[in-house]
Parts: sequence; structure tokens; C-alpha cells
Amino acid sequence: MPTPHLEPVVMPRPAAPDCYSAIIADHVVDAIVITGVDGLVEWANPAFTTLTGYTMSEAAGRKPGDLLQGQDTDGEEVRRISAALRDRRRIRSEILNYTKAGAAYWVELNIAPVFDAQGVHTHFISVERDVTERMSLQRDMQRALDAEQRRKEERRLLFETTEWLYTAESQEELLSVIGRCMRLLIPEADGQLFLYSNSRDALVLATTWGDRAAPDHIEPSDCWSLRKGRAYGYGTNLVDFPCNHVGETQPQPYLCIPITASGDTIGLVHLGFRRPAADRAGGCDLRAVLDARRELALLCAEQISLALANARLRDQLRDQSVRDPLTGLMNRRWFLDAMRKEIARSAMADRPMSLISIDVDHFKQFNDNHGHDAGDTVLREVGRAMADFFTGGLFPCRIGGEEFVVLAPDTDRERAFQRADGFRAIVAEMTIRYLGDMLPRTTLSAGVAAFPADATTSQALMTQADNALYAAKRGGRNRVHRVDDVETGRKDG
Ligand code: GH3
Ligand code: MG
Ligand code: MG
Repeated sequence: MPTPHLEPVVMPRPAAPDCYSAIIADHVVDAIVITGVDGLVEWANPAFTTLTGYTMSEAAGRKPGDLLQGQDTDGEEVRRISAALRDRRRIRSEILNYTKAGAAYWVELNIAPVFDAQGVHTHFISVERDVTERMSLQRDMQRALDAEQRRKEERRLLFETTEWLYTAESQEELLSVIGRCMRLLIPEADGQLFLYSNSRDALVLATTWGDRAAPDHIEPSDCWSLRKGRAYGYGTNLVDFPCNHVGETQPQPYLCIPITASGDTIGLVHLGFRRPAADRAGGCDLRAVLDARRELALLCAEQISLALANARLRDQLRDQSVRDPLTGLMNRRWFLDAMRKEIARSAMADRPMSLISIDVDHFKQFNDNHGHDAGDTVLREVGRAMADFFTGGLFPCRIGGEEFVVLAPDTDRERAFQRADGFRAIVAEMTIRYLGDMLPRTTLSAGVAAFPADATTSQALMTQADNALYAAKRGGRNRVHRVDDVETGRKDG
């Protein structure tokens, strides 16, 4: 507040009779202190004693500051007052003082230098008003404003980070975004996100943020929030039991919040609050921090839930668009894309790669004899067998009705031929049941072509593998042909 410019007080004044001065001094509610030029108390009124607990004789000869200032008095403000008095300027200030009994109170001080008729500085007069109530109201208001401001900032940060959550393209990417966002939003807590395994008998650690060690999985019964079906804050209740997964008997306050998607619990966010590194004395009240952050943490968990559900749906849709529903193998669309990439990669790395083209023999006849459903059963079983057999970096795909391919990176023609022929032999021996009956054995034929020996583009490589396949068909079926077998007329299988 600006100090009003006032004329210096000049005493004595030929105004009220002395008896009035005494009445004023005795009955005014403000404390009045008169000090000498040296700043030592010469006189104080009864209100001073009422306010401070010091009698006039106790105060006399001492500096008011020495009597009344204490540990939380603002040193900067004290220096501002001293400077004004040194310059014999009026000063108005609000400052924290302490009574004789040690109770803190706020005073509004008005101190003025007093000059005699000749203009000689003779005294200071200080009028002190107790403004504790006003200050505490002001402080409450400031606190409320600060809290509101903080909430606004939290919301803004939440809004911004949420946008990042929704730009994640897969669940994997989302998990790393969640960790980074949570560190920004709730920096006072280390965190962990657990997601239910497919079998739902455990929750697997999906991501962590902060420094705390986390178990790689927990059981649903280990966590109170999962058992109660709602958020659980440890350390802020009258009766508190820590969750088993926390692994300490008296942990720091923490929050566990279930993560749900479409009404199902899909996981758990754990937020462990920790003392700031600077808080060596341990004065930080983590329970208060948890309470202050609880609402934001719940909002975060809600956003994480939505973003995870969203990412899962997206992953599912993407998966559906590249997977064959009958066999679960990758489909033609995925294959064409993968083969183009694989050829480019092999060319760069100067490595061979192979393509195996597979077709079920006499399948039209099979359908005609046993029905389309029985045919589907065969295709499903062949698909399952392919997934079991072509592992270790080989990619079996179903690209059409009874037509399959295997993309074989880092595999030369001979190795691919051996793998294809191994699979042919397995299928030839396979027994498949349909509606309780044993179906007749099915066979398949295959053609193998290699990059770069047989072709250098994906289209040419497919044509070459198909040519080899047709040669296998022509050669009698239930066999595998290589490209050079087509050219030289060599037979295998
Ligand atoms: P080849 O030994 O020369 O390959 O004889 P094929 O009868 O297998 O050859 P073709 O390509 O003439 O016939 C393929 C048959 O596969 C036609 C169709 O009846 C059947 N088919 C294609 N897709 C499916 C499917 O999804 N399910 C079933 N059950 N049959 C299918
Ligand atoms: Mg066919
Ligand atoms: Mg066929």
C-alpha cells in the first residue's frame, strides 16, 4: 500500500486541553508508543499493554522491535521500517509481532517522527492496530485464490497431456506417454500401471515412472482398491492397512486407483508419494500432498482408462484388418506390405530371403465330397499347423481360399525348401476330425522362390513361387518345387 504523504507531527500543539490528551491516550483502542530519537520506549498507553502483554515500565528504555518481533517477522519489512526511521520519514507497515506470552499477531503500524516548534526531531510516535483477523481473512482468501489458480493450471496441464494420450497410435506407445504425462501432472509421486493378464489371474506391470522399484506382477487380492472396487488412499484414514503389493509394513502415503474400460476393471494405477529431495528435515506432510492431489489423480486415472480403452479398440481394429479370421494367420494385405518391406530390407542388408507358396490339393473335390464346413475345418487345422511349424522369424499367412504363403526373411532357397517340405510331410500325416468323424487325409503342394537368386521384385518373386507351385501340381501334387526345379525339370518331394 503506498505511504500517504503527510506532514511531520509537530508538538506541542495549542489544541485540546491536557486532560483530553490523557483521556484519548487512556481510552483509544489502538496501542500508542512514544520513543525517543534513539528509538527507546519512553511512554506507552494502556492499549499497548492490552495488545502486547508488556506494561509500560517493562517496555520503557527498550526498543519496541526487540520486544515484539519474532521468528516469523518479515526481516525485509523490518529493514524497510528502520530505513524510514533513519531518514525520519513516516512509515506505514503491516508486520507480524509477538506478545509477551509468545502469541503471534498482525499489527498495522503507523510511525511518525515528531518535531518541536523549532523543527528539532524529538520523538517517534507509533500507533499500532491489531489486524490479525483481517490478515487471516486475507490469507484465507489468498490461499483459496492460489488453490483455484493451481486447479486451473492442473486442468490445463491435464487437458494438454490428455491430447497426447489420444495421439498414441498403439497401446505400447500409449504406455510410454502415460509415464511421461503422469510425471508432469503429479511430480510428487512415483507411479506404476498394472494391467490384467489375459487369464485375469494376475496384473502385469505395464509401465512405471519415477525411481521406485515395482513388482513385475501382482495378484488381484494384493490390492485393497481392486478388492473394494474403488480408489484406496493409504495414510490418510483413521484405520489404514497397506496393500500386499506395496511390500512395506509402513509405507509412505499412496493411492491405488482401479482402471476400467467399458465397465470392466482392466488394471490399476499406483501412485506412491515421496518426500522432495530438498526436504531433508522431513517436514513435508505427504498426507496433505496426497489429499491435495487426490482429485487430480482420479481425473488422470479416468483419462488413462479412456485412452487405454481407445488404444485397445484401435489395436483390435488394426489387427482385424490384417488378420484372417478363419485361421488367425496374417492376411493377404499384411503379407503384401510385409513382403515389399522385407525385400527392401534384404536388398539393403545384402541378405537372401525366400517365399513359399502353398496350395491345398484337390480342395474343390474335398468340399464337394464333405461339405464347406468340413473344408473350413481343414483350413483351420492347416493354419494352426502352419503357425506351430513356421516359427523363429518365419511368417505364415493365408492369402486366399486354400492358398497360403510363408515369408522367410534371412532364408536361402535351399533352407526354405527344406522347411516347406517338412511342413508338407506333416500335413500329409495329419488326422483331422469333423463332427466326430475322421476326415480323409489332405495334402498340399508348395513352390519356393528366393530373393535375389530367382527374382528381385516382390511381384516377380510371387510369380516365381507360383510357377514353382504349379510345377509341383503338375508333377503330381503333395510335393515341393524350387524355381530351378521348374527350369531344369528336377523333381523333389
Ligand atoms: P488343386 O489341387 O489344383 O489346387 O485343386 P483345387 O480343387 O484345390 O483347386 P481350385 O483352386 O480349383 O479350388 C479351390 C477350392 O477351394 C474352391 C473352393 O471350393 C475352395 N475354397 C476356397 N476358399 C474356401 C474356404 O474359405 N472354405 C472352404 N471350405 N473352401 C474354400
Ligand atoms: Mg487354389
Ligand atoms: Mg488347391
